[in-house]
Amino acid sequence: MTVPLIEYKPASRPLPPEQREEVLASPGFGHHFTDHMVTITWTEDAGWHSARLVPYGPLPIDPANMTLHYAQTVFEGLKVHRRPDGGLAAFRPEENARRFQASAHRMAMPELPVETFISACEALVGQDRAWVPSRPGHSLYLRPFMFATEPGLGVRASREFLFVVIASPTDGYFAGEIRPLSVWVAEDYVRAVPGGTGAAKTGANYAASLMGQAQAVAQGCDQVVWLDALERRWVEEMGAMNLFFVYGERIVTPELTGSLLPGITRASLLTLAGDLGYEAEEARISLHDWRRDSADGSLTEVFACGTAAGVAPVGSVKTALAQWSVGDGRPGEVTMRMGEALREIQSGAAADTRGWMREM
Ligand code: PMP
Repeated sequence: MTVPLIEYKPASRPLPPEQREEVLASPGFGHHFTDHMVTITWTEDAGWHSARLVPYGPLPIDPANMTLHYAQTVFEGLKVHRRPDGGLAAFRPEENARRFQASAHRMAMPELPVETFISACEALVGQDRAWVPSRPGHSLYLRPFMFATEPGLGVRASREFLFVVIASPTDGYFAGEIRPLSVWVAEDYVRAVPGGTGAAKTGANYAASLMGQAQAVAQGCDQVVWLDALERRWVEEMGAMNLFFVYGERIVTPELTGSLLPGITRASLLTLAGDLGYEAEEARISLHDWRRDSADGSLTEVFACGTAAGVAPVGSVKTALAQWSVGDGRPGEVTMRMGEALREIQSGAAADTRGWMREM
């Protein structure tokens, strides 16, 4: 650890191996947690200190804890994959560490050094190695997060924070089969505004998204799609995933305007697209373009991407006034090839020519 561990306390009663194997047979997403967690404290006078590896369990919380009232909290999500030789590797953890710093900066929180973020992940994965699934497509999802721990009701930045990493085995977000998603375009709600916190991975953005997602489900759709807050016409992102629009051999993703999350999967696919012979571009895409280009057939596929679910095809779109499908509504070839290229690097089936996988 780059911040020395002051306490190393392995669980006295970890989940018995038979029960762990039962969980690993069908873990779902975010339901089960490994035996341990890592915590590191920050205080204004001492900076980062008191790193601990302790059994997974509840954290004591003061009723006046500032996070509960004013939402000063940030998080990350990254995956550790089991390789064909049994070794373990995380996908681009440095990128998550850097985004964690950017999120913290936006929320007036201290920035955790990149190497400390990674060594905390390594310490947890090293301890809970047996929890990293070996079934194809399954992985260990790491959830680093940080929150204000100072009690007090005055609205200001906390002077104390706790950084925590927990881990959860997963079989993917939309589990199993590749079924095209149906999306609902939120026109009554906005997720993020210019100058706001949309580009930070902070709890309040997700709280703000829940009504839109509930509306999507009430409309019979899988996921909500967000538009920009000012003009209400530019497509930003979908739920907790970024979007790509496929025009034959050209793929386009909404540019980073400051109100959508700069996804690491998004950035990786922009890079990988060239390897597969596609032309990749960041641009503004309007809801109107989406509908018109679907109708005239120039828009051949749309897919969403993110750490939790990888690459997921979008088959149909619904708004208050219209409904249409993309391409033939089935997973397209470009979507499948992009998803496959990413999975092959992560699983170790393809060479990691860019050094994206970090052994743990
Ligand atoms: N947008 C939002 C709002 C998200 O929460 C996520 C998940 N982190 C993404 C996009 C995709 O980002 P990534 O590829 O880094 O997982």
